Amino acid sequence: MADFLTAAERSERMSRIRGQNTKPELLVRKFLHQQGFRYRLHVKELPGRPDLVLPKYGTTVFVDGCFWHGHSCQGGRVPATNTSFWKDKISTNQDRDRRNRRALRRGGWRVIHIWECQLSTKVKRDKALTRLASKIRAMPTSVAK
Ligand SMILES: [Zn+2]
Repeated sequence: MADFLTAAERSERMSRIRGQNTKPELLVRKFLHQQGFRYRLHVKELPGRPDLVLPKYGTTVFVDGCFWHGHSCQGGRVPATNTSFWKDKISTNQDRDRRNRRALRRGGWRVIHIWECQLSTKVKRDKALTRLASKIRAMPTSVAK
């Protein structure tokens, strides 16, 4: 199987996706802010340090890179070289994601995930963001923290 990214592309992707304030995350933040939602960012006190926390809606939002979090899309494909290394690494990440989600739900939070690939084109982005906003609004504010 041919590798679908060059070494340079992969290293760019990895350095970018690992960090906070990535482009996909900024898109989500900007959209929600325009919609009138208010949130806190990267709340350290919560499991997994959610990218966005909307206390009024009891909701946490993660904007996840497809590669690091092992999405079942093209962007989540494991490289053809060092395959077992990457598989281990990514499955460790997935386990941690699952643990964090469980811990958040146990603490009464809702967890919404957005994948990077859902924001890759304008059409997909509009759809994903509209759905995100309605999911958040579906949470009764009476359970707010
Ligand atoms: Zn994806």
